[in-house]
Amino acid sequence: MQLKLDIAPLDSWAKKHHRPLIIAGPCSAESEDQLMQTCSQLKDMNVDIFRAGIWKPRTRPNSFEGYGEKALPWLKRVREELGVPFAVEVANPQHIELALKYGVDVLWIGARTTVNPFNVQEIADALKGVDVPVLIKNPVNPDLALWIGAIERIYGAGIRKMAVIHRGFSGLHASKYRNEPMWQIPLELKTAIPNMPIIGDPSHTAGKRALLQEIAQKALDLNFDGLIIESHIDPDNALSDAAQQVTPQGFHKLLSDLKFRILREASDDAVFINHLDVIRQQIDNIDRELLEVLKTRMALVEKACEYKIQHNVSIFQVDRWNEIFRSRSDWAKKMNVNEEFISEIFKLIHIESIRRQTEVITMQELASIK
Ligand code: PEP
Ligand code: MN
Repeated sequence: MQLKLDIAPLDSWAKKHHRPLIIAGPCSAESEDQLMQTCSQLKDMNVDIFRAGIWKPRTRPNSFEGYGEKALPWLKRVREELGVPFAVEVANPQHIELALKYGVDVLWIGARTTVNPFNVQEIADALKGVDVPVLIKNPVNPDLALWIGAIERIYGAGIRKMAVIHRGFSGLHASKYRNEPMWQIPLELKTAIPNMPIIGDPSHTAGKRALLQEIAQKALDLNFDGLIIESHIDPDNALSDAAQQVTPQGFHKLLSDLKFRILREASDDAVFINHLDVIRQQIDNIDRELLEVLKTRMALVEKACEYKIQHNVSIFQVDRWNEIFRSRSDWAKKMNVNEEFISEIFKLIHIESIRRQTEVITMQELASIK
């Protein structure tokens, strides 16, 4: 699926924008002083947009839920005195009305809001006729269609200055990250809407300071268009997301340690293009061979299935599959191929093999009835 949306380029609205675009600021606005101090330090560190949450969607009640409207004049003052545009999260039409009243520069829709189409539609309706850039975070669950649906709703309201934020996805299993990056999802989004700017949010993906660098670097290596990073003057005592925030100095170090390796999407260097073409052709050939091999494997599975039916043996033997998974992981290890990747591939092969064998049995049963 490819969507042709007439999205405004990032440069057209993020005026002083660096490559990548840099958004930074505390998770939450906690006081006027905190905002002024944080922003005056970040200002000298190439920050294009200052972020601060004032309505905080918290997973559990009795957590700090933000200062709401009271914090808007603080942000307005920051912008007036320090000249850095500001962004806040909005989750309903009333938030939008208030944020606009104080001249907000950029709005963002949080991950817990993107999951709810009713909620996103209400926001979209409130944005009709408004000219403000909107950033749409991925939904908390790994559902690309839901993310694209939210983009379509906001786009349908006439918003053209927009970007998406990748903040990772919550998973069932314990992971080293607060939210699993599942990089293939933002990349699929980029494939579906190639001109959609994409901003990485290492803070909410990582959940802890120590992992920020790794995630931010990965986002840049995948050619993301920007980063949004939480920074607080006293992170350990922050009222929300303490473990993942960095001081402005920490933020500065993070940025200076990043390697801006891939900046261009394409090159017009003829030697480079030719060489890349040769490698791509080799990949195409290998993919064709992979398909042939998979086809041959499936034919063998069918043969084994027919043989099992003739001998009244059930199609699924737990021991056989456990042995397949174990041996293939061992082979992967010996061949220095990522074991997790191989086990995911064999899970898919298993599903397809069961599906195909069930089909063979059903067909044989139907034939015997006739
Ligand atoms: C935030 O940016 O502070 C926030 C609440 O993030 P998310 O919606 O990604 O959880
Ligand atoms: Mn936060």
